[in-house]
Amino acid sequence: MIQCEISSKRGYNRWTKAEITEMEYLLTLGGYTFEEVGEKYDIDNRQYVAQLMQRHCINVVENRKPIWYAVRCGIVKLADKDWLEKQLVKHNGSKNLARKLQLSQGFINNQARRLKINLELLLPSEPEKITRPCTICKKKITRLKTKFPESGLVFCNKKCMGEWMGKKNHGRSHDGGEWTHDELQFLVNNHIKMMDRKIALALGKTKKQVYYRRHRMGLLKRPGKRD
Ligand SMILES: [Zn+2]
Repeated sequence: MIQCEISSKRGYNRWTKAEITEMEYLLTLGGYTFEEVGEKYDIDNRQYVAQLMQRHCINVVENRKPIWYAVRCGIVKLADKDWLEKQLVKHNGSKNLARKLQLSQGFINNQARRLKINLELLLPSEPEKITRPCTICKKKITRLKTKFPESGLVFCNKKCMGEWMGKKNHGRSHDGGEWTHDELQFLVNNHIKMMDRKIALALGKTKKQVYYRRHRMGLLKRPGKRD
């Protein structure tokens, strides 16, 4: 047997009342594990400590107080019901609070149960909605806070977004950037009789650039119809 010699020498009934009381205190309030109590009392067998408590009719796991768990995780305030309640409200539920404290959500939930905190506080309340103006037209838009992009840009619809993109790129992305007055005149004069490909060749641009510039200027091949 690899039983601890000291503990095997010392029978379960040969501990003083004060020693047993202190062990109980450490195991239920003081943040000690069976193993750590064993170390403190020179018992190198945690099973022996568990047995010792049982023999003295002390149910450690059932009697463990919230402070024990708070001490174990290193945040003593977690034994304070008021404090935990306020933190749950402030962080809108146990998920965010757990992340903030770098603990598991399960731990926070269990601790809230131990402290008999209203369990509704563990869940996030209705997601917050906020109102911001559209970047382009300034129309007020109300959305979930998370639906607003971090860029700070807000668009009420695709049209406003398109307008912003156009301003941002100054048209460079699609129609090849600045066109000279002569190039534009050539486009106006020839867009119906010449194919985009031919215009592109004549101006040293791509067919796509001609197409986009022509559409930006509202120059259609057959006026009044889509093309
Ligand atoms: Zn808008």
